Amino acid sequence: MYYPEPISKLIDSFTKLPGIGPKTAVRLAFFVLNMQDDDVLGFANALVNAKRELTHCTTCGHITDQDPCSICQDESRDQSIICVVQDPKDVIAMEKMKEYHGKYHVLHGAISPMDGIGPEDINVPDLINRLKDEDVNELILATNPNIEGEATAMYISRLVKPSGIKTTRIAHGLPVGGDLEYADEVTLSKALEGRRDL
Ligand SMILES: [Zn+2]
Repeated sequence: MYYPEPISKLIDSFTKLPGIGPKTAVRLAFFVLNMQDDDVLGFANALVNAKRELTHCTTCGHITDQDPCSICQDESRDQSIICVVQDPKDVIAMEKMKEYHGKYHVLHGAISPMDGIGPEDINVPDLINRLKDEDVNELILATNPNIEGEATAMYISRLVKPSGIKTTRIAHGLPVGGDLEYADEVTLSKALEGRRDL
């Protein structure tokens, strides 16, 4: 063990973050040690509070500090369209675009038989319940354009079809194998515009 235990614990914590390798973790840990006490405390509190105060909206599954979330509470939004996405970050990407005014449903994942993830393991049952209670005409399936995302879109489309609700799939411009959250606003806007029936 090269480092005193408190430092190696801090390094371990940074290593658990995505995109942080061992070298970067060491650099960040030593950076923290040189920070002002107040800044370190503020940083630690921000971490704890974000985790403590944020919850998932019981209606749509988006991250929020109030339940239902501000989007679900907003009566000026189009109540007849729900855009189904995999991740809360996708909602934020869509909102940045400022062209979509319907509601959302966050699945928190995608169906992946290879990983043993079925429809019951993601937020699909809640979506089906919502469709019974809410007056929805269209479901935009905006899952990621990769195998899992496509499989999830197909599954939901088939499940919903008998109810007569239109299901569409965002299409053009999104790179196959990519993540929705990384798409730029123009690409995402075109993809939404060019959605096709499923
Ligand atoms: Zn919500």
